[in-house]
Amino acid sequence: MLRPRGAPLGSWLFPGALGLGPASGRAASGARGQGWLQPAGYDTGVKVYNSLTRRKDPLIVSSADAASWYSCGPTVYDHAHLGHACSYVRFDIIRRILTRVFGCSVVMVMGVTDVDDKIIRRAHELNVSPASLANLYEEDFKQDMAALKVLPPTVYMRVTENIPQIIAFIEGIVGSGHAYATARGNVYFDLQSRGDKYGKLVGVAPSPMGEPADSDKRHPSDFALWKAAKLREPFWASPWGNGRPGWHIECSTLCSLVFGSRLDIHSGGVDLAFPHHENEIAQCEVFHQCPQWANYFLHSGHLHVKGKEEKMSKSLKNYITIKDFLRSASPDVFRLFCLRSSYRSAIDYSDGAILEARRLLHTVAAFVEDARAYMRGQLAGGPVREDVLWDRLGRTKGAVQAALADDFDTPGAVDAVMELIHHGNRELKAAAEEPRGPRSPAVLGALVSFVEQLFETLGVSLVERQCAARAGSPATLHSVVEELVRFRQRVRRFALAAGQASGEARRQQLSERQALLEACDALRRDLAAHGVRIKVRAAPGPGQTCVPTTLVPQLQRREAARPCAHHPLPPPGQGRRVHMGAAGPADRRPQTRALRPWAHVWLSDPGHPAVHQPSWH
Ligand SMILES: [Zn+2]
Repeated sequence: MLRPRGAPLGSWLFPGALGLGPASGRAASGARGQGWLQPAGYDTGVKVYNSLTRRKDPLIVSSADAASWYSCGPTVYDHAHLGHACSYVRFDIIRRILTRVFGCSVVMVMGVTDVDDKIIRRAHELNVSPASLANLYEEDFKQDMAALKVLPPTVYMRVTENIPQIIAFIEGIVGSGHAYATARGNVYFDLQSRGDKYGKLVGVAPSPMGEPADSDKRHPSDFALWKAAKLREPFWASPWGNGRPGWHIECSTLCSLVFGSRLDIHSGGVDLAFPHHENEIAQCEVFHQCPQWANYFLHSGHLHVKGKEEKMSKSLKNYITIKDFLRSASPDVFRLFCLRSSYRSAIDYSDGAILEARRLLHTVAAFVEDARAYMRGQLAGGPVREDVLWDRLGRTKGAVQAALADDFDTPGAVDAVMELIHHGNRELKAAAEEPRGPRSPAVLGALVSFVEQLFETLGVSLVERQCAARAGSPATLHSVVEELVRFRQRVRRFALAAGQASGEARRQQLSERQALLEACDALRRDLAAHGVRIKVRAAPGPGQTCVPTTLVPQLQRREAARPCAHHPLPPPGQGRRVHMGAAGPADRRPQTRALRPWAHVWLSDPGHPAVHQPSWH
């Protein structure tokens, strides 16, 4: 894993990436904000809590077209858990708000730590190479983020792909007199040399605990920029001998590679503030020789397991992986759970809190459905008080905008929308109770449009909830289809049953029930338009339906499945055929109709009597 050093110092070492110059502006006043320079540039209109000043500052970025944002990424050695999910979802929400509400495009860089003590340890345990373990879990992380609907950064930057640049960065710090190399081949940042400029985030730095007695540091607080190679560890050649970079220097270098000496926003979990972010600041400001490298530090609160003081973490073994969580809940529910608290606050995870988020989402979706039904005239209803709703809508828009501009106050914005929905529901209810008079569909349409757009902006999709075949709850859809098919079968059975009657009485009975048969036929045709095909078999046996292949994995878990022997497989990407349920005569009866996007599913219904009605096929 030896890699030659050789990348020359290039323009990346200097200000100029994205055409950004050094920060200019005025010094902020106030005790904590002393020394912080309010940047010049594009005022987003948002006031954001800045960990550097511990107060809300106007968020001013270098450019509305390219606000620079660095996010500490994962150390890829295991599955990500809900604590990680919470942090990344919260910052994804902020990024969406900045972009879509305040018109500020973001260039986001995320560093991926793919060489680290934990990766090396785990790789040894599993007897695989650290590189392959890191690749595996990096991909796993990206899949989790996609499943949570977290927008990917503009670019991921891997540590191992930038080792020469990291070495050059360290050389720059050593050259400035703020770092020193030891005889053992380690390089440390000299914290004493930084004087009182260290501690911008946390004030006086706590003394490190548990420093080994044989440490070759000059001072216990000094931190490693380069670690000399140990046995069975990956290493790279450097001016100080074989080794690998320290953790903090990775982010400083990766960020500077893209953004140069000025960064608008830096984000991460609150546990990263010290020492990680504090050390990043020290490294960058020394290297770039600038008084202020990152202008805003945003920190997200921890996810706690309810009833416990501790945060969810790998080391405490109290975590739920993202994959496990998404087996029973949708990403929209999790997002709403995150939206209901400030991104800065600690958040209690519990089944009850998730259930509450689910209920809230259901309330929103139900309102949108009801309002749509009213617009279509399908909901019994007369006039609504239009002026009240227009007024409410206007005030809600203002309240939402104000909440989001106040340090991305998503709980405030959600509360305002829920209040609007409450009033909308009240008007719909009143209209249903007095269903006479002119109707007012337009104002309900305006409410629907606003609610949907806002949730879409925040990454919660209500539109998908309108679609039957969404990925979130195929099992529910299947159950509904199953119920509907059974109901139709009962109605048909009743309509076709001639009972004990014969002759004229039988004809009379069939004639009377003809309308039911026609309704069953119409339902079958209508459902086919939605991709659900009901076929009545010519031979006695259970009913049969076809459902979209997206449902098949769920169905397979419920019923024994086996490949269909009667049909050639459809072309790749066009679905597959799976026969499911109890084997019966129909399983042996070849089907000729092409239903490529569908799976044939035999719904087991042993109690279902035989129906012989080929003409309805
Ligand atoms: Zn970092």
